[in-house]
Amino acid sequence: MTNVAIIRCEKNMERCPLTSCFRCLNDKKEGFANYEDCTLTGVFTCKCPGDVAVDLSKILKAKGAETIHFCTCTFAKKTDAGWSAKDGGFCEKIDEILENIHKETGIPCLKGTAHLPKDYKIKTIQ
Ligand code: SF4
Ligand code: SF4
Repeated sequence: MTNVAIIRCEKNMERCPLTSCFRCLNDKKEGFANYEDCTLTGVFTCKCPGDVAVDLSKILKAKGAETIHFCTCTFAKKTDAGWSAKDGGFCEKIDEILENIHKETGIPCLKGTAHLPKDYKIKTIQ
């Protein structure tokens, strides 16, 4: 069983209650398809400019999180043809944020939760 945490973006916090994120985690689909089994340890909301993400991740680690996923909407947008990472999502610094978290906490970090863009291969920074 892997203890998973999710960090979402404040730019979407009043529009989406992470419904598809949670559904995919429960069903081990999309961003969570590589886990044999996983459970949710906690959820935090990142605030711009993103410096807080390292401290949030340290707390998640202390609470038992073994991996941290950033929501798909941080790096992809919904288009008429489905979700696409071509023009990015809410966060221009998402890769840098993930690198910093991994550097400071050692926790594997992943970009993606629900509705992954077509042909997107989820990568773990570890
Ligand atoms: S990835 Fe989708 S379900 Fe998850 S917070 Fe973003 S818009 Fe909502
Ligand atoms: S730094 Fe990025 S992920 Fe964090 S709140 Fe701002 S846009 Fe969202």
